[in-house]
Amino acid sequence: MLTSQLLAKIGVADVRYLTKKGLYQVVTHLAELNGFNFNAVNYKVNSIELAKEVCHNLHLEYLDFKTLDLCGILYKSEKSTSIALNSRRSAGGRNFDCMHELIHYWLHGEEAFYCSNKLEPSSTSNYFEWQANEGAAQFLMPYQVFIPAYCRLKNSLSVTHNEGEANKEIVARLQRRFNVGKKSVEIRIKSLEHEIKHYINGVPIGELEILSANK
Ligand SMILES: [Zn+2]
Repeated sequence: MLTSQLLAKIGVADVRYLTKKGLYQVVTHLAELNGFNFNAVNYKVNSIELAKEVCHNLHLEYLDFKTLDLCGILYKSEKSTSIALNSRRSAGGRNFDCMHELIHYWLHGEEAFYCSNKLEPSSTSNYFEWQANEGAAQFLMPYQVFIPAYCRLKNSLSVTHNEGEANKEIVARLQRRFNVGKKSVEIRIKSLEHEIKHYINGVPIGELEILSANK
């Protein structure tokens, strides 16, 4: 877990009360600490390699979970870290799932996490699930990189494709670009829709206001 000094340094008193904007600041800091730069050409993260570098004494397993809904398990102890990923999910899906577990690893004090993509709304553990999902999305597909890439594709493909085909092709290309699953890209586009609108209306990427879903 991140030390309280580190959180204080980036102005976070308590991870339980992070807004989307605050969470993105924490994730940006985490990415920088681990040597990533959102301005790099072809920004792409392999979260499994990253987990091997950062997790204390990592045991990583790929398990046949029987259901696609169970994405990953994280168990932290004094001696070691265990992450189990679902071998039935795609490579891109597992890249997202492992990043999700890394966000728990860094931010959340609990010992064990059983992560499913079937969420019950409004409990504390689901707030942590929201943070892990939104944090993983920002680490793997930073809005600073994702929004311009999305808009460039939208512009060029809308000339040659009808809207439905263009949207499919945009998702497929962004999946490859960021090494994530189809669903992760679709959710990312949806969750950034206000920011995308403002960007299209001329707000520079560095000046976009990050809005929480309820705003
Ligand atoms: Zn989780």
